[in-house]
Amino acid sequence: MDKDSKKEQTKQYTIPSVSNSRFVSGTCKGEICSVCGENATNKLGEEIPYDDPNPNRHNLTAYVCREHFRMIVGRLG
Ligand SMILES: [Zn+2]
Repeated sequence: MDKDSKKEQTKQYTIPSVSNSRFVSGTCKGEICSVCGENATNKLGEEIPYDDPNPNRHNLTAYVCREHFRMIVGRLG
């Protein structure tokens, strides 16, 4: 799937924002959303539960755009 197709697909899932935050960390510079390929605005990290078979491993992380961040964490994202 090319980048333009992913953009069109993403538009179907737009949710309204209830936050005025437009802060984007410098750590996102040059990174792209792992879902749609837009410029990343947030970095997500897995929380490793206490009973994970390998609790000392590094958590899984992913850069995402604001829209996909909100799809995961809700409209306050
Ligand atoms: Zn995205």
